[in-house]
Amino acid sequence: MGNKRDKTESDLTTHGLNPYKIVNDLLQESVEKLKLNNNIYEILRKPMRLLEVSLPVRMDNGEIQNFTGYRCQHIDILGPTKGGIRFHPDVSVDEVKALSIWMSLKSAILDLPLGGGKGGVIVDPAQLSERELEILSRTYIRKITPIIGPQKDIPAPDVNTTPEMMGWMIDEFDQLRGYNIPGMITGKPVIIGGSLGRLEATGRGVVLTIREAAEVLKMDLSKSTAAIQGFGNVGSMTAKFLDELGVKILSVTDAKGGIYKKEGLNIPELIDFVKEGNLASEFSEAESISNEDMFGLEVDILIPAAIENQINKDTAPNIKAKIVAEAANGPTTPEGDAILEEKEIFVIPDILCNAGGVTVSYFEWVQNSMNYYWSEKEINQKLEEHMVFGFESILKMRDEENCRMRQAAYMVGINHIVKALSARGWIKDSDLTSNE
Ligand code: NAD
Repeated sequence: MGNKRDKTESDLTTHGLNPYKIVNDLLQESVEKLKLNNNIYEILRKPMRLLEVSLPVRMDNGEIQNFTGYRCQHIDILGPTKGGIRFHPDVSVDEVKALSIWMSLKSAILDLPLGGGKGGVIVDPAQLSERELEILSRTYIRKITPIIGPQKDIPAPDVNTTPEMMGWMIDEFDQLRGYNIPGMITGKPVIIGGSLGRLEATGRGVVLTIREAAEVLKMDLSKSTAAIQGFGNVGSMTAKFLDELGVKILSVTDAKGGIYKKEGLNIPELIDFVKEGNLASEFSEAESISNEDMFGLEVDILIPAAIENQINKDTAPNIKAKIVAEAANGPTTPEGDAILEEKEIFVIPDILCNAGGVTVSYFEWVQNSMNYYWSEKEINQKLEEHMVFGFESILKMRDEENCRMRQAAYMVGINHIVKALSARGWIKDSDLTSNE
C-alpha cells in the first residue's frame, strides 16, 4: 500500500531535478534582468510558512498507516494564499515549496488578489479504497485547519484530487467550525458552492493561450495537429476545446502509456471512455505509443499536461512542434528549456498557460463570499479577459526585454509583487535598483 518511505527535503524528484532549485534559479535570474536589488530575491525565494502533518488512517485490513502531508504558503501580500492539493507518491517538501511559488507568480501575472499556496500528501491514491481515500482527505483537512480558511489560505484540486474529494474536505472543515464556510476550498461540486466552468477552466485557459500564440505565429488552428501528455482533468479538457477549434489530436498518453491515430483521435468518444473509468491508454480505436515517442511526433502543438520534468535533455531534442503549451506545472527542465529555445519553439510557460484554473477558483471564491452565483457565460468571458491580459503582458515584456516567454512571465509576476511589497513598506526605493 503506497507510502513505503517518506520523502525529505533533500530528495530529488523525477530525472534527479529539484523544482524548488529550478524556480529559485529562475527567480534570481529574473530579478537581475529586471535590474532589481537582490533583496527582492531574498524575500521571494522562501515560502513564508510550511506545515508538515502526520495522517494516521485505519486501512481496510485493520492496520494503521501513517501518511505524510504538507501545506505550504509562499507570500500573502496580495491576498490570501491559494493553491491545489496533490495526492501523489512523489510529493515532497521541495515540490510543494516550488508549486507555492509558481502559484504566487500565476496570480500576480493574471492580476488576481491572491498569494501562492500548495499542499500535498505522499500517497498513491490508486492503491486506496474509496473509504480509505475519504478518511485520508478528511484527516488531511483536520490537520491543516489551523492555517487555512477563506481569508487565510484556500485549497483546490490538483493531481489526483477531485471535486468529490473537495466535497469531503469542505464537509470536514464545516463540521469542525460548526457552520457552512463555502469559500474555504474551491473546485467543489456546484451544488455546494462550486463555480460553473471550474472543471473546464484550466483546459479552457490552456486553449485560450494556444489561440493567442497561434495568432502570433500566424498558424491556422483548424489545420493544426496536437499531442497531449496526460489525460486527467487538464489534458482531457484541453483536448475537448482544441477539438472544438478543429485541431486534430493525434496522440494522448497517461501514466500507463499512450495512443496514436494519424487521422486524429475521436476526442468526445475518448472522453466518454475515460469517464466510464477506463484509462485513455486502453482506448482500442488507436495504435499504442509510449510517452517518449509521443514527444517526437510531427505535430504543431505539444501539450505536457501531467507532471514535472517531462521535457528534458532526452525528450526535448526530438520535439518537432511549433508551440509547446505547458498545461502541467514545471513540465520542462532547464536543459529541456534551453533545447526548446535553440529550436525557436514558442513556449507558453506554465505560470501563464495553466492559470485558468486559479482564475476560475478565484471567481468561485468571490461568488462564495457574495453568496451570489454567475452564469457559465459570464465566467468564461471573465476568464478569457484575464488569460488574454496575462498573455499580452508577457508577450510585451518578451518583446521589450528581448527574452524568452518563460523569463518574461517571471518578470511580469515579480514586477506585480514588487508593487505590493513597496505599498506595504517591505522594501525601500534602493531595493528597486540593482546591486551593481
Ligand atoms: P489529474 O490527476 O486529473 O491527471 C493527471 C494525468 O497525468 C493522468 O492522466 C495521469 O495518468 C497522467 N500522468 C501521471 N503521471 C504520468 C507520467 N509519468 N507520464 C504520463 N502521464 C502521467 O491531474 P490534473 O489536475 O489534470 O493536473 C495535471 C497537471 O496540471 C499538473 O501538473 C497540475 O499541477 C497542473 N494543473 C492542474 C490544475 C487543475 O485545475 N486541475 C490547474 C493548474 C495546473
